[in-house]
Amino acid sequence: ASREVAATVQAVLTTIAETVDLNVEELGRLDSIAGDGDHGIGMQRGSHAAATAGATAFSAGAGAETVLARAADAWADRAGGTSGALWGLILAQVAVRLGDEGRPSREAVAAGVSAAAESVMAYGKAELGDKTMVDVLVPFAETLSRQVDDGAALIAAWSEAAAVATAKATATADLMPRMGRARAHGKNSVGTPDPGAHSLALIVNAISTVLSA
Ligand code: ADP
Ligand code: MG
Ligand code: MG
Repeated sequence: ASREVAATVQAVLTTIAETVDLNVEELGRLDSIAGDGDHGIGMQRGSHAAATAGATAFSAGAGAETVLARAADAWADRAGGTSGALWGLILAQVAVRLGDEGRPSREAVAAGVSAAAESVMAYGKAELGDKTMVDVLVPFAETLSRQVDDGAALIAAWSEAAAVATAKATATADLMPRMGRARAHGKNSVGTPDPGAHSLALIVNAISTVLSA
């Protein structure tokens, strides 16, 4: 089972990089409206470094936690930008809950995502409504935990949470930014979703397809 779980984690890392590739121009465009335009390229550097580092660890026989922890470090090191540091934190928090042995429970996955949300808020100091990825990550984590607590299978719980993520990312268009670079260009960004919220929603939706495979 450990090997299968590590393989699923590696498939998730590959899917994240592919999803970013497909959306790189759109993410750059969204970030150019109130930010510095580098969200697509930053996410591309980070996600590809993560997939490469994960593949190296997986080939060496590492378990899920180690594969994801190596990917987290590579993402934070190579992406640059605020979102790179935050994505490193997200992957690192999930990694710890997965462990290297056996098959993690769905409660462990949900706990990892909740820890990731808490960690992003502690590090970045953004709160709900500040127009950042937090506006997607927190409701995603809460929906996932609630679904799991209600007895849903991981795939069903993740899919439900991913649908909430999409709606919440769209809803960031109405917000005024209060954190990050976009704060200085606040009014320009009204009508456009936050780039980091949008990329997070795209990624959790793509992961649904890996979990159901
Ligand atoms: P940078 O802003 O350094 O150029 P990116 O363009 O890659 O980095 O990422 C911008 C995204 O990062 C924003 O759209 C937002 O979602 C997220 N972000 C920025 N600052 C914070 C923060 N303090 N807390 C949470 N997310 C943040
Ligand atoms: Mg940027
Ligand atoms: Mg930047």
